[in-house]
Amino acid sequence: MTMITETFVQAGNAIFTVSSPSGERYTFRVRKVEKDDRPPITFASVMTGSDNETSYSYMGVVDFQAMNVRTTKASKFADDSTPVRVFRWALSLVGDFDRWMDAVERGYRIEQSGRCGRCARLLTVPQSIRAGIGAECAVAMGVDQATLARETEALWKEATIPHAA
Ligand SMILES: [Zn+2]
Repeated sequence: MTMITETFVQAGNAIFTVSSPSGERYTFRVRKVEKDDRPPITFASVMTGSDNETSYSYMGVVDFQAMNVRTTKASKFADDSTPVRVFRWALSLVGDFDRWMDAVERGYRIEQSGRCGRCARLLTVPQSIRAGIGAECAVAMGVDQATLARETEALWKEATIPHAA
């Protein structure tokens, strides 16, 4: 598990998953589009289907200056809809280590997409990201994905979260 950085979010094809302690999750894609001589525009979308490479619905235009997303006429979600609010919240944590760590302590996660170590498919489900192995490949390899994910998470916490004095 890694913290998403400003550089990552602005890189042009960032995909990350935000999850809550109750297991709710949203996968977001932040894609930069450059056309002709015009300044690049960055669009934020949320995954709304089963294909984590292609099933995304447009939410709005990202303003990196304000670290905000602006919904537009073409947005598939209202400005105060849950996906838009969750995305805004995640953006507001980028670069704010203390608030992000506080969210982690409360059970929230913002995790970069990964690639399966066996088949190289895109991983966006938190347990798959943490395990580094997709669900089907874990079965094929005869490993327990949940255990693998828990062990990785424990190592990450051990390495990252400051110990109480
Ligand atoms: Zn795989």
